Amino acid sequence: MTGYQAFYQQSIDDPDTFWTREAERIHWHKPFDKVLEYDKPPFREWFAGGLTNLCYNAVDRHLEERGDQAALVYVSTETDSEISYTYRQLHEEVSRFAAIMQAQGVGKGDRVLIYMPMIAEAVFAMLATVRLGAIHSVVFGGFASASLATRIEDAAPKLLITADGGLRGGKVIAYKPLVDEALSLAGAAAPKKVILVNRGVAEAPMMKPGRDLDYGALREQHLNDRADVEWVESGHPSYILYTSGTTGKPKGVQRDTGGYAVALASSMEYIYGGRPGETFFSTSDIGWVVGHSYIVYAPLLCGMSTLVYEGLPVRPDPGIWWQLVEKHRVTVMFSAPTAIRVLKKQDPSWLHKYDLSSLRALFLAGEPLDEPTASWIGGELNVPVLDNYWQTETGWPMLTLCNGVGPQTVKIGSPGLPVYGFNVKLLNESTGEEVPAGEKGVIAVIPPLPPGCMSTVWGQDERFVNTYFSLLPDRLVYSSFDWGVRDENGYFTILGRTDDVINVAGHRLGTREIEEAVSGHSAIAEVAVVGVNDTLKGQVPQAFAVLKDPSVLQDPERRAALEKEVIAKVASQLGAIANPARVYFVNQLPKTRSGKVLRRSIQALAEGRDPGDLTTLDDPTGLEQVRDAVLQK
Ligand code: AMP
Repeated sequence: MTGYQAFYQQSIDDPDTFWTREAERIHWHKPFDKVLEYDKPPFREWFAGGLTNLCYNAVDRHLEERGDQAALVYVSTETDSEISYTYRQLHEEVSRFAAIMQAQGVGKGDRVLIYMPMIAEAVFAMLATVRLGAIHSVVFGGFASASLATRIEDAAPKLLITADGGLRGGKVIAYKPLVDEALSLAGAAAPKKVILVNRGVAEAPMMKPGRDLDYGALREQHLNDRADVEWVESGHPSYILYTSGTTGKPKGVQRDTGGYAVALASSMEYIYGGRPGETFFSTSDIGWVVGHSYIVYAPLLCGMSTLVYEGLPVRPDPGIWWQLVEKHRVTVMFSAPTAIRVLKKQDPSWLHKYDLSSLRALFLAGEPLDEPTASWIGGELNVPVLDNYWQTETGWPMLTLCNGVGPQTVKIGSPGLPVYGFNVKLLNESTGEEVPAGEKGVIAVIPPLPPGCMSTVWGQDERFVNTYFSLLPDRLVYSSFDWGVRDENGYFTILGRTDDVINVAGHRLGTREIEEAVSGHSAIAEVAVVGVNDTLKGQVPQAFAVLKDPSVLQDPERRAALEKEVIAKVASQLGAIANPARVYFVNQLPKTRSGKVLRRSIQALAEGRDPGDLTTLDDPTGLEQVRDAVLQK
């Protein structure tokens, strides 16, 4: 065995040697006693006994060598601003913000909820939280009040940090009214303090005396205050990030500290090829896992500059990203296939207006990367385009090509091979046997999960085991809930989810959550939401709803109005990203004799496919109604 194969095999066969070496990439205040504590499978602790701190490793550690180097470059095409922070300035902002939080009583283990647009203060807040050994939970700024409230209820934060508003395509989204509503919905779990960064984009926010504090005023008040680093155990939670699943309640993916730092630092060399002093540009949002790992932590852990961008890829013009690449000499870029498909619709000359010679590679993740998109952008940029397959749960890629270990051959349409540390298998879901090349199976990981992956579901250890490790009755294996297939060279292709989770423009949405929001409309008796193929976004949600008053079905005007109302309801509860592309009204849904909605058949009809196995169907009327509804409109 040579090259990547040998490297990979060592990570599986001799994880102690492998990860001891990788752990040298970060600073340990106290060295670990044991590389892996695995006495209660599937729970594990990497680098047990070690003390470290994520913020120290991302910021303080670089002060001596790169104090004057840009650490964070903030660019907003929404407010037309650009601010660069050196490592020294970042250190000041972060340790001051941590002091502000400390003054509000935040300490080790407390949760801090961050509901922010893409501004530098959001990154300061994340780093300040982990500096204190507190635990952040960033909620994507596009989520509406009900989604925010669910997360507040579960995490019970001591403090919430927000801003007056965000902007998207020039449109202001005021955050404070959403926060106020979420806080009242969350009841007893609501934090006692809210810090608001007033950037002056939304109408003057209403501040509740005694609860709401203005960040600008606090910053003045604490101008010379700095909080020290709190050294925490390697397994200490650094953050909770909620992700959708098959139930209406999102799961709080809990991440550790030491394992995460080591995994990210190693990935920068072996997967991304980013080097200290260079600029990394991830176009994601801090509300998603890619934002956590590859806007904030990984680039900073490695002494790079990270570009934090607020804005659209096509505004002020479709050349904006490439202009940024030229200006900041970006070497590694990370985005999502949907964004590239958006750019592909624009005039390609935008890609050739700028000097992109600094760029070495483009990584795309979050959803399937189709061949036309990959070939087009690879050809235009003339750099390798690499597909990364991973999940919120894994924290970093699980399947890709590790060109930093040795050059690998790209196979378009495939993210590639298992990443070191991940003992990936393709299993038959009934027998648990490994499937041969060319046969479909569930993508599974034989535990222990490597460093960087989730430790548990926040506050629900049982749910962690029951959700992720129940694929087989007699053996603990982690299920990714994705189907895959492998070729004879071991290259994987992803075939879609095994559950009711859908992927819209790279964002994971649970159909159950959308169904609950739709059912919240007083006219709706019952609803099924399915993901339907979409050329731009990969998938979009479509809702099939049964009305309480069936006579509405005969009234096209009322139907059209209701469709709008239902979509508005989803937007106000969950946020516009969850909006159904269509709401079809029917008298009945297709169900099995035991009353289970046949979502797969509805999805097939909505995509113009055969509805599949109907042996369990109770009454064909529901299916015919779905078919007619789709065909009519
Ligand atoms: P999230 O946790 O939101 O990042 O969503 C993870 C899910 O997105 C995975 O379980 C897959 O279904 C899908 N996914 C992520 N990356 C890829 C990829 N490169 N190719 C295909 N599907 C992907």
